[in-house]
Amino acid sequence: MAEEGLAPHKLKILLVEDEMVIVHFLSTILGAEGYHVIYATKGEEGAYMAASHRPDLLLLDLSLPDMDGLDVLKAVRAWSDMPIIVVSARAEEREKVAALDSGANDYVTKPFGNSELLARIRSALRLYMSKKNARGDGGGLFSAKELRLDYVKRTLTVSGSPVRLTPTEYKILVLLSQNAGRVLTHDFIIRKIWGPYASDSQVLRVNMANIRRKIEPNPADPQYILTEVGVGYRMTDDPKAPGDDCEHVNR
Ligand code: CA
Repeated sequence: MAEEGLAPHKLKILLVEDEMVIVHFLSTILGAEGYHVIYATKGEEGAYMAASHRPDLLLLDLSLPDMDGLDVLKAVRAWSDMPIIVVSARAEEREKVAALDSGANDYVTKPFGNSELLARIRSALRLYMSKKNARGDGGGLFSAKELRLDYVKRTLTVSGSPVRLTPTEYKILVLLSQNAGRVLTHDFIIRKIWGPYASDSQVLRVNMANIRRKIEPNPADPQYILTEVGVGYRMTDDPKAPGDDCEHVNR
């Protein structure tokens, strides 16, 4: 998959829906809104893709050929707080309650209007982002020393220069920044970034080396992401820029 070719930090929506007419229709209107859409036509595949692709939002049909959409919902909720909007023809109240009780953020009944669905998606994403950013400085920004991460614009600068990260690198940096000052274990980071089926710490090491190469003035002596040997990583929560420590900076 050509993830590197995506526009930087484009929001990704996973669509789990077995009717191809609806898949094409939704892909078109969501694509036109600037979302990157991926889809699965079966429940098991959908649950797997939620874990492996880590979308920013899941749009989930309840009646799927291989399993109940509610079980997909529960499987994803067991490890992720990503926004989930259930899209279904089932109009009964108890179905909605069951979906919301199982952790759905919202519920849209077919047939629905485009603008209604898009509004629900924007609202779920906004709420999720503001909840995620609540632990930052409140303005949707994280800063430490010369690093500035804007969660809303999804941009990163170090010493004023923009830094381009892959979607995975960006997610790792967001996770670390939202827990700045705290040690996050390798397993915790792997589970949060790649989902419950991943266990390869080598992939994390490679991503971390790439992030450091992009953000650290001297990757061998990191000042932003510190290694806790044998345990994990910790992002600095030191707001101060280095004073007389500028000999590391490439000019
Ligand atoms: Ca269906």
